[in-house]
Amino acid sequence: MPILVTDFDGTFTRRDFFDLILERHEPPGARALWDRFLAGELTTFEGIAGVLGALRTDEAGAQALVDAMDPPAGAAAAARALQAAGWEIVVASAGCRWYIERVLAGLGLSFTIHANPGRFAPDRGVVMERAADSPYLHPDLGIDKAAVVRDALRRDPVVAFAGDSWLTDGPPALLVAPQRRFATGQLARRLAENRHEHRVFAGWDEIAGMLLR
Ligand SMILES: [Mg+2]
Repeated sequence: MPILVTDFDGTFTRRDFFDLILERHEPPGARALWDRFLAGELTTFEGIAGVLGALRTDEAGAQALVDAMDPPAGAAAAARALQAAGWEIVVASAGCRWYIERVLAGLGLSFTIHANPGRFAPDRGVVMERAADSPYLHPDLGIDKAAVVRDALRRDPVVAFAGDSWLTDGPPALLVAPQRRFATGQLARRLAENRHEHRVFAGWDEIAGMLLR
């Protein structure tokens, strides 16, 4: 069956979970830690895990952040249409399974998820751990999305990819055929700058329409 591999934060949802933590909670030290990641001093895993672990709130506060991730209104219907047409939807994320599962459960959706495991505790934030049991474990990125796509391509010749960042989504995006390479935000800009054909989407729900047309 054809496979859509999709990033989660900023791709399936409009907002990134770590960004919502920085914006709404400003945990002490978290912005400085994120700046160190942006400066190349920390790995992607260390940067995201650092911000998630800096969160200090109660269960309701953590759920409020999950609720603010903001998947487009048509995302659930679009996902069901793809699945009804035989597509497998695979999430490949450098973020944490803890909030991904909550967002999808809230929409009544079931996807395959490759992400870093984790849990929430008020005094420890979202504790993100390495996906030690995953065949896609990557020391710096957490999850090796390019390996997820290569594996999908071994299972079926028709594989699509959707993402929004250059660092973690660029390499997997370049593995799929241009007509199935979906990009938004920074990924779309960088693909255009580098003259890589791709299809631009504003909301994840638009991808189903383009794949099923
Ligand atoms: Mg993203």
